[in-house]
Amino acid sequence: MPKGKLHVVPLGGLGEFGMNCMAVRWGDDIIVVDAGLMFPESELLGVDIVVPDLSYLLENRRRVRAIVLTHGHEDHIGALPWMLSELNVPVYGTEFTLALVENKLEEHGLLDSADLHEIRPGVRFKVGPFTLHPIQVTHSLVDCVALAIHTPLGVILHTGDFKVDPTPTDNRLFDLHAFAEYGKDGVLALFQDSTNVERKGYTPSERAVRLKFDEVFARCDRRLFISCFSSSVHRIKLAVEMACEYGRKVALIGRSMNESAEIAEDLGYIELPDGVLIHPGELKSLPPEKVCVLISGTQGEPMSALSRAAVDNHKHAKIEPGDTVVLSSRIIPGNEKAIYRMIDHLFRREAHVIYEDGSSPPVHVSGHASQEELKLIINLVKPRYFIPIHGEYRQLKRHGELAASMHGAVGSVLMAQSGDILEFDELGARKAGQVTVGRVCIDSGSMGDVVEDLVIKDRRHLSEDGIVLPIIAINKLSGKVEAVPEIVTRGFAAATENGFLDQARGVVMKTLEESSAEEKGDYGVIKEKIRQDLKRFIGKQTQRRPLIMPVILEV
Ligand SMILES: [Zn+2]
Ligand SMILES: [Zn+2]
Repeated sequence: MPKGKLHVVPLGGLGEFGMNCMAVRWGDDIIVVDAGLMFPESELLGVDIVVPDLSYLLENRRRVRAIVLTHGHEDHIGALPWMLSELNVPVYGTEFTLALVENKLEEHGLLDSADLHEIRPGVRFKVGPFTLHPIQVTHSLVDCVALAIHTPLGVILHTGDFKVDPTPTDNRLFDLHAFAEYGKDGVLALFQDSTNVERKGYTPSERAVRLKFDEVFARCDRRLFISCFSSSVHRIKLAVEMACEYGRKVALIGRSMNESAEIAEDLGYIELPDGVLIHPGELKSLPPEKVCVLISGTQGEPMSALSRAAVDNHKHAKIEPGDTVVLSSRIIPGNEKAIYRMIDHLFRREAHVIYEDGSSPPVHVSGHASQEELKLIINLVKPRYFIPIHGEYRQLKRHGELAASMHGAVGSVLMAQSGDILEFDELGARKAGQVTVGRVCIDSGSMGDVVEDLVIKDRRHLSEDGIVLPIIAINKLSGKVEAVPEIVTRGFAAATENGFLDQARGVVMKTLEESSAEEKGDYGVIKEKIRQDLKRFIGKQTQRRPLIMPVILEV
């Protein structure tokens, strides 16, 4: 066995939801698996995305050879623009993953300088001392792979996100054989997705949703709105197929929905027969029973198309009594409030709302493996070391326990969290110290506007650009805005300029006037609208980006 140490360092995603990123190092060569983001919790006002701290990679910048992507979900590729702007190394991903990546890099003006390499399931490639073998897996997205990484010390297997779906809608099967082959030859370590370890049994196939969709399409006699994650290509494909079957035209609403449908069509994952796709503007001229609208915004994001439609503030998506709205997605923990608030609005519009409520057939199925599938893969791979990844701490813990109970299949279980250095050598494996990890908050796509953590962010914001607090008094009973909004600023120089505050107040008033009573009653929505309008105004007037925190006083 060669002398040397293999280090595997999770830089995010272990003990937290999102930001999946892992460094694999042998001597002077490092490859990075995935570059994910985390969506900020609502407490992080003014922050758009959260990405992993890259200190470890930047300290070793001359050693980093490549970033290899398992699939195209944001929690795996979302931090790429920020990472490449700091560290421009080659990026490897499958065709569909790279198509999403290209869009993203284009947006940030990084596409021209990016070095993208397409990989294919089953086709090995070499990076430095590593040979990588992408293995096809099934998940809620298409073109997803696990990675077998051949290191001088043995093979490590990174599952990426997966479930074992024997009947995927694109007929691209989970390559169980490859896992079994590796199991026969011997695997040093298995790193496995922990997301659904708390669920017993098997995760249903994507096809299970078809039953529910069939029921909905058969029963709906007015407009049908279907919302799913824009990355759920299987789900979009299903909705389009059913719409064709039931003689409905399809409109796509929401930028992300359009983008991913276009990529999926280009790459042959969905088929849009001529004449099926209509422009959203045509909706009003077609009979309600002849249309199906695919709309983005399943998580109640205040500015998403569906949220706006729910409060009757979308140009094309008008929801009328008797219409049906299907939320074909998971309710992500932390988003419950926003989602249920949106559902309430939809019910007020007298729509039928169908969402994941535990009834069967399901309107959504998970893309992650439940216990029996996790055990199946462990059994096939029989790793010397098992390391649960991709989960909050309790999920990692339970996944570790599950694996530890499989005495015949697993040598030993190593528990790690983001930042731990896992060291492997001829003597075995152990934790060998820690690297700096953490969350970096980024504001509004500007790669320059990056800070180490929220505290520093606030301080920097405050020291450079100050803070702007629009204070709006809303009468709780009538929903009316009482008096002219106050604007309090600190450390924001422009505020002393003539007439600035009056103008800013005017912007807030205008936003309020142009919002419906329902929007004003939904503080999440109205705060976000005010924040965005003020941000635009202040940016234009002063080129400053103060921290803007709308405050609503109920009177
Ligand atoms: Zn995923
Ligand atoms: Zn994931």
